Amino acid sequence: MGNIIIFGPPGAGKGTQANNAVNEFNLFKVSTGDILRNEIDKKTKFGEIIKLKIDQGLFVDDKIINRLIEDILKNKDNHNRLIFDGYPRNLNQAKTLNLLLSKYGQKIDLVLKLSVSLETIKKRISERLSLEKRADDSEDIAIKRYNTYEKSTEPVIDFYKKLNLLKVIDGEMSIDQINKEISDIINLI
Ligand code: AMP
Repeated sequence: MGNIIIFGPPGAGKGTQANNAVNEFNLFKVSTGDILRNEIDKKTKFGEIIKLKIDQGLFVDDKIINRLIEDILKNKDNHNRLIFDGYPRNLNQAKTLNLLLSKYGQKIDLVLKLSVSLETIKKRISERLSLEKRADDSEDIAIKRYNTYEKSTEPVIDFYKKLNLLKVIDGEMSIDQINKEISDIINLI
């Protein structure tokens, strides 16, 4: 078995599905968003640089991301048992990941894309809004995030499609159905 990557727009349930796979297949989740938030919490200089970027809604520099990822790939404990969530975010990161994987004798076996329409994301957010009244999840922001996501990941998705690693999952199904489909696919690799 090799490592897995999961893609999906904000609100697609990507985190939930990644966690399910972690539990079922004893994987180790690598969420660059979580790692970066951790660095910020440590209140280091490094964390400060990261916070500046995230607060502006910008991507963190590839150099920083690559360094964090290399530290994880070096670790033999989770060799070929990783599921990447929120990474790679651009083509440069995807290419660097390939180089780092071969450097550490690892590989990617599967790239999952949760495909969900903007209409569904909007519907889910308006349902959640009426439950939680979350101010940061206004529809405008959600639409922007969705479009940014689609635009920035398109070349990365294409990269993995050409490598014959891509499996598109219908993210409109129920959480359980998606979970089952992902499990069936992982069982085959
Ligand atoms: P996330 O939790 O994955 O939505 O990430 C939160 C924020 O962290 C993003 O908006 C980016 O600013 C930054 N970030 C997370 N992952 C990456 C990445 N792979 N490359 C660059 N920036 C990232």
